[in-house]
Amino acid sequence: MSRFDTVVVVDWSGAASPSPARPAKDAIWIGIARDTGTEAQYHRTRHAATEALADLFQTEIAAGRRVLAGFDFPFAYPRGFARALTGTDDPLALWAELAARISDGPDNANNRLDAAAAINRLFPGTGPFWGNGLGRDIADLPRTKAGYASPFADRRRCDTTPGAQPVWKLAGAGSVGSQALLGIPRLQSLRVRFGADISVRPFETQDTAVTLVELFPSLIAGTVADLAEEAEIKDRAQVRVLASALRALEPGKLDALSREGDVVEGWILGLGHAALLEQAARRACAPLLPPRLRDDCFAMPQGVAWVPVDEALARLRAALHPVTGVEQLRTAEAMGRILAEPVMARRSNPPLPNSAVDGYGFAFAATGAGVNRLPLLAGRAAAGQPYDGPVPQGHALRILTGATLPQGVDTVVLEEDTATDGALVAFDGPVRARANTRRAGEDVAEGTQALPAGHRLRAPDLALLSALGLSHLPVRSRLRVGVLSTGDEIVPDPADSALPHQIWDANRPMLLALAAGWHCAPVDLGHVRDDRALIRDRLDEAAGQVDVILTSGGASAGDEDHVSALLRAQGTLSSWRIALKPGRPLALALWQGVPVFGLPGNPVAALVCALVFARPALSLLAGAGWVEPVGFTVPAGFSKSKKPGRREYLRARLTAQGTAEVFGSEGSGRISGLSWADGLVELPDAALDVTPGTPVRYIPYSAFGI
Ligand code: AMP
Ligand code: MG
Repeated sequence: MSRFDTVVVVDWSGAASPSPARPAKDAIWIGIARDTGTEAQYHRTRHAATEALADLFQTEIAAGRRVLAGFDFPFAYPRGFARALTGTDDPLALWAELAARISDGPDNANNRLDAAAAINRLFPGTGPFWGNGLGRDIADLPRTKAGYASPFADRRRCDTTPGAQPVWKLAGAGSVGSQALLGIPRLQSLRVRFGADISVRPFETQDTAVTLVELFPSLIAGTVADLAEEAEIKDRAQVRVLASALRALEPGKLDALSREGDVVEGWILGLGHAALLEQAARRACAPLLPPRLRDDCFAMPQGVAWVPVDEALARLRAALHPVTGVEQLRTAEAMGRILAEPVMARRSNPPLPNSAVDGYGFAFAATGAGVNRLPLLAGRAAAGQPYDGPVPQGHALRILTGATLPQGVDTVVLEEDTATDGALVAFDGPVRARANTRRAGEDVAEGTQALPAGHRLRAPDLALLSALGLSHLPVRSRLRVGVLSTGDEIVPDPADSALPHQIWDANRPMLLALAAGWHCAPVDLGHVRDDRALIRDRLDEAAGQVDVILTSGGASAGDEDHVSALLRAQGTLSSWRIALKPGRPLALALWQGVPVFGLPGNPVAALVCALVFARPALSLLAGAGWVEPVGFTVPAGFSKSKKPGRREYLRARLTAQGTAEVFGSEGSGRISGLSWADGLVELPDAALDVTPGTPVRYIPYSAFGI
């Protein structure tokens, strides 16, 4: 599967003098999309643009990256013209012919009109070229198309899209003819410079470091207009959006498109596939506007009394979707982030076959049973220091772990299994063909998916993606989680004194720490007293700053439960009466489109509800999908007679014997038990008599991301 690492889109110009110093329209614009992002360059002259392209090609070739470069002028002329001028239908023969006829100075001064007139003289009639906007007349180049007669068709087969202009037109709006006459010779100069590293599709089919194609940005003009930045110059938007779109096509698709078309008249890449390009453009460039959650997304059907935990989780899962944007981060800085798109291997790992051990390398074909004695070549192959030259069959070479196998070596014998006097190496045969070697791509093959979208990056993933040459990654922005405490009795900061009837805020630091541990961006929304107007103001402020809000306290239906009263008055509250202990109704609502989780005030219930409900919900909102904690079954180290009809979570920890012991009190105000525990025992909804040895499900805190 052929893949392009870098896509370049050039909006060319047929101007006769340099474009303004300040970036302007109708000049040369170059859009470059690569793994580090997309940029747009402005050039005042064709000479400057050609040099910039040559530099870019050089850099990309040196870095082992493949480039597709597209230009918005015709690469060929209607059938018959190339043959009449060069004796062959090959458009590239015509490129050389035009390059010989056209001169184009570093200041854009050029002879295109005189050259066109000279070509016109070769043919009967007034054309094929027409259009002269100069003050002076040019013999054999008509000023307009009036009385036009030419032996060639007016347009190519691919020039029938709306807005396409005849290639013969050299003056006036959209005079693509001048761009071609001044573009083709420049591309021909790049062909000469880059030789076997460059090819032109669809005329040539080989895979080269640089591939040139013809483009027509107007193919997706509407989408470009939609995706343009405010006050962005149209030409700039075109090259930027089209380059990003082409690069965003699935691997192999761009290569396939570039091979379509007509090898005599040329082809506009993507013709007939505008919808595909538009989709890719939107995917690549649309500022990610997360869809809003629906106001009624948490609604519970009428008459539902107690909702089992599993049903509550299923409802929550169905109600939510990712709300975070996408950014590009350096791989080394992407720890804990979520991939926004699947990532593909840029190169195979290992890129070349190499040795898995320190030893001696040789061709398997020259070995046999019994003792083998092979003459040793001078020198060695080491990691990062390849052996320069072939190893003739029947010879051996010292080779170290990680060294690229030299030409002629397919098998390595382990150093410990050999004896050597410096001239010969001896070992027992038979050896296994390709023993102690690693195949190119045996770990990961180029172009295959390394990790899927939605994957949260851990340290080993950073190793994998770095090994595959991915310097930057498209990741989700961190989910911003606001945490708010309510209650007249709460003192927000333990640095402040508390009167005997007051308590220090325990939930806020806990919930902020949970959010941080879940790789979200915690936002401290502080504490508000039980005052509806104050709570409203704080929520209003928060809605502009965060993606989701966790509140604790005041979420029940009592007199002092101002959070639920406010959310109810505002109309989006759904109080879920979940069959769960510890826990009370979970208040779910949207505040200006931002989901609010009203957690119980009791720290024990607040933690359990956060772990059971908020954690998977936040993961889904963040773009990492729904998550379930991985628990395991252990014998109970306690006794309990559990009533039917609700699920229970007990503060628990493992004993040295591998049983689960539980905290002495189930009181939901007992914060010390939360800290005593290392996890939770989950008892099922049904009744259960637990005695020592009864299998129970233990979920360690670590499985909840604590
Ligand atoms: P509420 O849900 O507001 O009725 O509170 C239930 C219990 O949790 C009460 O005993 C509160 O004092 C306590 N509580 C509420 N918020 C917090 C908090 N942030 N930290 C510690 N305890 C709290
Ligand atoms: Mg309260």
